[in-house]
Amino acid sequence: MISRIIKDENVRRLARMLDEAQRVVTVCHMGPDGDAVGSSLALAHVLDRLGKDVRCIIPDATSSLLMRLPEAKEMVDACRHPDFARTLLRDADLIFCLDFNDPARVDRLKDALLAAKAPKVMIDHHENPSDFASVTISHPEMAATCYLLFRVLCRLELLPELDATAATQLLAGILTDTGGLSYNSSDPELYVVVAELLRHGADKPMLYKLLFNTVSENSMRLNAYAVDRKMEVHHDMGAALIALSRAELNRYHYSKGDTESLVNKPLAIPGVVYSCFLREEEHYIKVSMRSQGDFPVNEICAAHFGGGGHLNAAGGQFQGTLEEACDAFRALMNENKKKYIDKK
Ligand code: 5GP
Ligand code: MN
Repeated sequence: MISRIIKDENVRRLARMLDEAQRVVTVCHMGPDGDAVGSSLALAHVLDRLGKDVRCIIPDATSSLLMRLPEAKEMVDACRHPDFARTLLRDADLIFCLDFNDPARVDRLKDALLAAKAPKVMIDHHENPSDFASVTISHPEMAATCYLLFRVLCRLELLPELDATAATQLLAGILTDTGGLSYNSSDPELYVVVAELLRHGADKPMLYKLLFNTVSENSMRLNAYAVDRKMEVHHDMGAALIALSRAELNRYHYSKGDTESLVNKPLAIPGVVYSCFLREEEHYIKVSMRSQGDFPVNEICAAHFGGGGHLNAAGGQFQGTLEEACDAFRALMNENKKKYIDKK
């Protein structure tokens, strides 16, 4: 029904590790999105049904909306409970690394993750995995970690444990990473998996409402302000930039997730090929980029902002002031135009 993409050897090793493990921990990347949270929760749910002691660790808080996913409140936020998170990693028999492929992506948990004695299993869909896990299941061609995780569960013959809760959690990740099946979603087999999740009881209407049609009044006003007052559209460069300072964020009582889809908005303007959003955090500037077609924002984020991601969705960080970050982005526009846009 769907092709077998995961190496037999990895399936066998993973099955053996699961047999031998009782205390299982999942970890995902910092700033957990729907795919990171969805894959963590779904795997934990299925393994819990198998009788394992499972805990999900998130390196820092996720959005209040994602906290409404089933069982999300059971996750351990390592920012709020650093010692507990480290103890869980230290005492685990098996650690799943979900939706990231480099230890740097778990931020302050990096040392505890690398020091943990338990074997690590990476299940991820980002490019260029680093070699830190005992089992690496890395498939950048998969639209979401949740999509890949479904395939892993299928190969482990664990689909009988996939109830409506786990199916909903997996679908949350697929919908998040494809913008509700709008981009990066032309793989026909993705729909076979979505159909299977629906058959298992995934609550699609709830997810669409939660992920795409729920917004706080503050967030709605902040996004409207950002687009109206702060968006620079460089038509001749095929680029757009939005930057928000702490003061502006505070004015709208910003909370995590409030600007989640802002970076996508300029892409709707004809001629805008890529978009950059800069958000002033306490100690750095958070960089988010999105693009369409084959414009590689992951290359730009890796080369200039110490980050990475996917071809059309990437991020990174900038050390300096917000204005310096804006200048750094503007300075790249000419080069980007020559390298990626004009050559067509
Ligand atoms: P976002 O802009 O929503 O934070 O991230 C978009 C994509 O880029 C996600 O797939 C995320 O994993 C990746 N990404 C975001 N920030 C970073 C970063 O600092 N480093 C790396 N390697 N990837 C990032
Ligand atoms: Mn993902």
